[in-house]
Amino acid sequence: MKKILVFNYSEISLKKKNRKFFEDKLYHHINNIAKYFNLGKTWFIRGRFYLEIDNESQLQKSLEYFEKIFGIQSIFLGYKTDKDFDKICLAAKALTIEKKGVKTFKIKAKRADKSFPINSMEINRELGGYILDNFPELTVDVHTPDMEIIVEIHKNFSFIMTKIIDCIGGLPYGSAGKVVSLLSGGIDSPVATWLMMKRGCEVIPLHFHTPPYTGNKLTDKIERLVKTLSLYSVNGITLYMINFTQIQIAIKKYAHDKFTTILSRRFMLKIANNIATNLNALGIITGDALGQVASQTLENLYCVNEASNLPVFRPLIGFDKQEIENLAKKIGTYPISIEEGIDCCHLFSPKNPETRGKIDMVKEEEEKVLKALNYELPYEIETKHITPF
Ligand code: ATP
Ligand code: MG
Repeated sequence: MKKILVFNYSEISLKKKNRKFFEDKLYHHINNIAKYFNLGKTWFIRGRFYLEIDNESQLQKSLEYFEKIFGIQSIFLGYKTDKDFDKICLAAKALTIEKKGVKTFKIKAKRADKSFPINSMEINRELGGYILDNFPELTVDVHTPDMEIIVEIHKNFSFIMTKIIDCIGGLPYGSAGKVVSLLSGGIDSPVATWLMMKRGCEVIPLHFHTPPYTGNKLTDKIERLVKTLSLYSVNGITLYMINFTQIQIAIKKYAHDKFTTILSRRFMLKIANNIATNLNALGIITGDALGQVASQTLENLYCVNEASNLPVFRPLIGFDKQEIENLAKKIGTYPISIEEGIDCCHLFSPKNPETRGKIDMVKEEEEKVLKALNYELPYEIETKHITPF
């Protein structure tokens, strides 16, 4: 009797011609984790990935990684055993012991191999009776059981399994292509980044900082945010830390105070466009939610957006703050985001920001800054690759 994990994939099942492309990405991701924890052999048959566990010591820890794989709908724990009813009973018993806190159960048997002498209805009945005999505290509930024991009779073996994790769904990491992401230390942009990762984007986070006004504490916070996001990636995420001090100072010095935020965002987008183009990335993510703060009115979003040639993706545009916070908690970024940490935008933000910017005025102010900078954007990049393990 061998312990196995079974992974069911989500939306990929709707894909037709290019399904294999998505399956390969997913398989690679599952394999990567299985190898890292030295768990055992993986294989794939018709819409499902299997992992035969040779080394159980790391299984629990590995589940924290498996459950974060985009593209997986659910994970089942089970046993692979002979096509022998007594062995099937033992496997079901072991599963019931392992799945703690169960009060009700149901057996769902399926025979792929119709030559198996007991039919599905009989397996349900017989195995159900066996479980009831061994666990007198349990009862059968065929509608909403705490535990559904699935029995599959195949040609050369049988599977006995039960669902242990409902996963996130989405599409495999990297299957959609590459985008850069404007990642601040706040609550919103990590969530926005994660949502695009969930739809298959490989992300390159860009954080703009203004040393010496911002310090190591902020850098450390950003790195930990990226570390949390990297748990959902395959091989990690490369963070770009961009020294923005000269530009930020020029904005403060040469443009009207009330345009500071709009201009900072425009310069960030211009730099993001340069970096994205060099990396063959096809868009830019931001954490804007309509109306949340002064810089996120329709007028100001228009003025900011105008600086970008590449599409700007704002997956949170229709979210309330509470919805974003709930998601941040689920992802794991929330406790890091709410840590005290001085962001360049807070330091330089104006007392009375423009809430309804006009593009002509914004560009006039921007021209003053650009002229002072001799029409070159002075910024420096430091990169750091942050891995999930
Ligand atoms: P967040 O919680 O993501 O910081 P926010 O509600 O504080 O968002 P703003 O500060 O107006 O909103 O920022 C809007 C968006 O601009 C952010 O979501 C992020 O995408 C980007 N951004 C802001 N500051 C930075 C920064 N220092 N580096 C990179 N991107 C930034
Ligand atoms: Mg912010």
